[in-house]
Amino acid sequence: MRLMLRIVLLFISGVAMASELPKTVAETTDYKSTSRYDDVISFVHAIQSIDPGIRVETFATTNEGRALPLVIVGPAGVVDPRTAHASGLPVVFIMANIHAGEVEGKEAAQMLLRDLVSSKRKLREKLVILIAPIYNADGNEKISTDHRKEQVGPVNGVGVRENGQGLDLNRDYMKLESPEARGLVHNVLDRWDPLVTVDLHTTDGSYHGYQLTYAPMLTPDADSALIEFERETLLPGIRARMKTRYGKETYYYGNFIDQLKPEKGWYTFDNRPRFGNNYAGLRNRFAILSEAYSYIDFRARVEVTQQFLDEILAAVSLHGQTMTKIAARADERAGSAKLKKLGARFEIKPWRKSTTILWERSTPAKAGEGIQNPETGSGPRIVRTGEIVPMKITDYGIFAPTEKSEVPFAYLIDARAKRVIENLRTHGIIVERLNAPSKLGVEQFVITKTEHVAREFQKHRELTLTGEWKSNDVSFDAGTYVVRMNQPLARLAFYLLEPRSDDGLFDWNFFDEILGDVAPVSRLMTVTPLNAGVGDGE
Ligand SMILES: [Zn+2]
Repeated sequence: MRLMLRIVLLFISGVAMASELPKTVAETTDYKSTSRYDDVISFVHAIQSIDPGIRVETFATTNEGRALPLVIVGPAGVVDPRTAHASGLPVVFIMANIHAGEVEGKEAAQMLLRDLVSSKRKLREKLVILIAPIYNADGNEKISTDHRKEQVGPVNGVGVRENGQGLDLNRDYMKLESPEARGLVHNVLDRWDPLVTVDLHTTDGSYHGYQLTYAPMLTPDADSALIEFERETLLPGIRARMKTRYGKETYYYGNFIDQLKPEKGWYTFDNRPRFGNNYAGLRNRFAILSEAYSYIDFRARVEVTQQFLDEILAAVSLHGQTMTKIAARADERAGSAKLKKLGARFEIKPWRKSTTILWERSTPAKAGEGIQNPETGSGPRIVRTGEIVPMKITDYGIFAPTEKSEVPFAYLIDARAKRVIENLRTHGIIVERLNAPSKLGVEQFVITKTEHVAREFQKHRELTLTGEWKSNDVSFDAGTYVVRMNQPLARLAFYLLEPRSDDGLFDWNFFDEILGDVAPVSRLMTVTPLNAGVGDGE
C-alpha cells in the first residue's frame, strides 16, 4: 500500500514537473535570441518553485547594481560550504558569460540546472554543483547586433566583452579591480573552495575542425600533480566521450600561427593567472576553460557546450575521490613550506612536437575578395574551403619558466601598501603584522630599472622591474605586514608578491607610489621566529 502510494505520487509529481519545467530564451525564440539578466533570474526562480531545495546566493553586485546569482545544487542537507565539504562530495563550479558576447554558456548552464531538477537528479548524489549563469551581467544587458559579427548567431545580438567599468573580467583575477572578480574570488573560490572550475566561452580565432576546444591550467607554477592528472586522465577521457557519444571532435584550445601555413604550428594562449583557468591552478584546484566554436551556429554551440558540461560532470563523478586527494596533497605541499623555486617569467614551448590537428583548408584570396586571416589580422585575405584536413604539426601547448625565483619563508611588506594587503586578503591569503619593531636578516630587491609599457591595458601601464636580491640586516617597524609562505595559497602569494612576476601586484602598479631604490617587499629566507599576528583590529 505504502509503496503503491509512493509510486502514484512519484508519477503525479513527474507529470507535473515535465509540464512546468521552464524554457530558456534561446529555446523559446528558436535560437534567435539569448537571455537577458531578468530572464535568467526568472528561470532560476521557476526552477526553485519546482524544487525548493535549490538555493541561490548573491556572490557579487555589479557596478550597475545587478545581484549576481550563484545557484547551489546538491544533495539534501547541503546548504553552505560547511555542509558541502562535510558531505565529502566534489564541488564543481560552472561559470558562464564572463565575456557577455559569448552567450551559449549562459543558455547551457540554465539547461543544466533544469536537468538537475529533472532528468539528471541522480548527479546530485555524487556532486555539489555551483552555477553562476550570468557572471558579466552588465555586459550582457548591452545586447546589440553590432557585437561579434563574425559569430554565427544569435541573430538578435549579444552583449559586450567588458563589464560596466570597461574591464575584461578574464584579466582581473590577480588585481581584483571589479566587484564581480572580488565577489567571485572571495565568495565562491575562497568560501566554497570548488575542486573544479569550468569557465564557458566562445572562440573566434582560427578555422579548424573542432566544435569545442578546451584548456587546463597553463601556469607551470601550479602543482604538477594537478596538471598531470588533468592532461593525462581527465581531459583525454572527456574528449574520448565527446567523440564516441556525440561524434564530435574536440581538442586543446589553440590557433594556427598562420591559417594559410598550418605547418608552422598550433599554439595555446597564455600562462598568466589574470586568466581564470591559470588562477584556479595557483589555488591548487582544477580548471577547465571551454571554448565553443564561433563559426558553428548558436544552437549547435549551446548543444556542444551542454554535452561538454555533461561529460565533465560524469568525469568528476568518476574521478572525484582521486582529484580531491591530489588537491589536498597540493595544499599540503604548499602549506608545509616545501616549495623551493617557482617561475616568475615564462615562454611558450612545444607540448607535442608532432600531433594531428584538424585544419580547415584555407587559400589566399584574389584581390578584393576573401576574408581576413584570423591569425595575421591585417595580412593577405584568405578564402575558407570547408574542407577539414588532419595535419601533423607541433602543438605549442605548454609554458616553461625562463626565470625562477626562490620561495622565501616569509615576505615582509611595507605598512603603506594598504591596497596590496586588501587585495591579498580578498584572495584568501593570510596576512599578519609585526607586533613590535624587529631587526631581521632579509633579502631586499635592489631596483636597477623600472619600465612601464607604453600601451595602456585594462587601465594600467604594466610595470617591469629589473634588479637583484641582496642580503641585508633591516629594522622593520611594528605594523609591517608579513605573509608566511607555509600556507596553502603560497603559490598564489608568491605570484602576487615577487617583484619580477609577470602578473603580480608590482606588474599591475599596486606599488608604483611607494617604489624606492629597493622594492617595498623583502624576503626572509630562513625559518625565523616572528613576533607577528593577524589580530590587529584593522
Ligand atoms: Zn571569452
